[in-house]
Amino acid sequence: MNIFINKHHVLVLSLLLIGAVVSCNSVSRQRREKSYAGHTMGTTFSIKLVETGSYYESHPALLDSIHAILERVNQQMSTYIDSSEISRFNDFKADQWMSVSEDFASVVHTALRISRQSEGAFDVTVNPLVNLWGFGSGNSIRTVPLQQAIDSALTFVGYENCRVRFNPPALKKTVAGLQCDLGAIAKGYAVDKVSEFLERTGTENHLVEIGGEIRARGKNENHVNWRIGIQSPDGGNRVQKIISLENIAIATSGDYRNYFEENGVRYSHTIDPRTGRPIQHKLAAVTVLHDSCTVADAYATALDVMGPEDGYDLAVKENLPVLLLIKSKDGFVEKMTPEFEMYMKK
Ligand code: ADP
Ligand code: MG
Repeated sequence: MNIFINKHHVLVLSLLLIGAVVSCNSVSRQRREKSYAGHTMGTTFSIKLVETGSYYESHPALLDSIHAILERVNQQMSTYIDSSEISRFNDFKADQWMSVSEDFASVVHTALRISRQSEGAFDVTVNPLVNLWGFGSGNSIRTVPLQQAIDSALTFVGYENCRVRFNPPALKKTVAGLQCDLGAIAKGYAVDKVSEFLERTGTENHLVEIGGEIRARGKNENHVNWRIGIQSPDGGNRVQKIISLENIAIATSGDYRNYFEENGVRYSHTIDPRTGRPIQHKLAAVTVLHDSCTVADAYATALDVMGPEDGYDLAVKENLPVLLLIKSKDGFVEKMTPEFEMYMKK
């Protein structure tokens, strides 16, 4: 059993992969599972794949290619790299298009769509607030800022002031000082990229995980669906729910992995751009299933900000399979959308 605990700024959740402990009832039919693990995007990643004997799988170039994909996403979307596309855009002047890669434009495009859909609960321009609260690359200390500083950061936040175009791909800000943050979507995007690469190169049966965001394809070495356990948000390693993944991606956001505490109050790295403050509600974790890990990742954060009622309503409206874990005095109450219940019955 492998336990993934996300340690750094990125991390919410920890998911435990239990595919590897499914018992092997037929040795002759068993295929060989291979695992890789490492660090990327301020968190950990792990990949499992079932070898079918293709040349590429056993070739060291496989790992090199995966690292190259992750490195490329970092060079596009990490605010911790000064020369990344996002850092250059964040320093860029207003009212002029800046050329960017197609990949970067498409992730910002998806982020803007979910910003609109969630009416700004998810906001791709939240970076000044993330930095102000000490969760960004800006090195500020983690303490409650003055209201004046929050108000001033808020003047730079607003997804409607960020534009994206294709042919050729470019971004534009219409307010000086606007800064993007893709921390809530880039890991999901990187998961999709690695998984698509594995599919393209003939490794159809695999599971890719970065910081708790996962995409599974095909079956595990025992010819059954990959299964994961969603960790209880109580901070330990108790499994709250086991989910069998049938060619689908899964992402989770929560307030219990990356936060600081001051005067008994927990301040999470998920910020409500409508108040400029970290979320303060009873929703402990949100898990979203979707074909695309990019989209699942963004929705998990969006619904997390929206909270147990509004988040649930948006999930139902968008027909999303979503599991909400809500804090109560006797532990966590599970609230599932009809699509999630249907998925679990399959
Ligand atoms: P994790 O990175 O822990 O998996 P999320 O996917 O929820 O969790 O992303 C959290 C990150 O998203 C924060 O560290 C920050 O960079 C960014 N973020 C915080 N609040 C928002 C928001 N309201 N909208 C978009 N991105 C946000
Ligand atoms: Mg997210």
